[in-house]
Amino acid sequence: MLAGNWKMNKTPSEAQLFANTLVNALAGFNSFDIYIAPVFVALDRVREVVSSSNIKLAAQNMYYEDSGAFTGEVSPKMLKELGVQAVIIGHSERRRIFGETDELINKKIKKALAEGLTPIFCIGETLEERQKGLTFCVLEKQVREGLYGLNTDDVKKVVIAYEPVWAIGTGVVATPEQAQEAHEFVRALLAKIYDEEVAQSVTILYGGSVTPENFFGLFVKPDIDGALVGGASLKESFVELAKIMASVLG
Ligand code: PEP
Repeated sequence: MLAGNWKMNKTPSEAQLFANTLVNALAGFNSFDIYIAPVFVALDRVREVVSSSNIKLAAQNMYYEDSGAFTGEVSPKMLKELGVQAVIIGHSERRRIFGETDELINKKIKKALAEGLTPIFCIGETLEERQKGLTFCVLEKQVREGLYGLNTDDVKKVVIAYEPVWAIGTGVVATPEQAQEAHEFVRALLAKIYDEEVAQSVTILYGGSVTPENFFGLFVKPDIDGALVGGASLKESFVELAKIMASVLG
């Protein structure tokens, strides 16, 4: 999977225009899933552009209730009506800036699954945690609490995005070895909590300063199944990333 997280960028008309560029440039890439996640207010216009293409629509967040007194929130039912098929949950910016906890993230993941949306569940350690040797500890807590209560069938539908916080938007990418080590750890953890079949079937993306210059080395690693891309998804470089994936997949 190649997923572009546009974050709080592009107005609805800019998003529509860029989606149109992507539809043309990415036609024919069918060996992996391509998602773009525009801001909520651009989803409807982007849907019109991508609806008969190979590009799927993701949202950047959601709340776990259907409707009600939750000012400023958006429900999965609303997203589904706009053609959304996946939703990013627990992005480090949501955790850090908006105070999202593992418990809240768990509720959102469960609700997304109940509504048939694919959760793109983000995990990752801060620089301080890495420097203190806590990376695996942090990842284990986030995975265990984020996936708490999910059965084997459900967990297979979750996409996990390993996004070291120190690599997001910083230009400092994890080395392929660092990323592979974390992905391998997460997969082994899934095998421990569930079983080997689950561990092998869960898609694990890498995210954090992915560019066409560094992506090949990451994507060829055995446990890296694709990327969640921020900055480089806002430009033509997203197409370059798709080309790299296609060349590796053959
Ligand atoms: C992200 O926002 O998920 C991300 C990985 O951002 P960037 O690629 O800009 O580091």
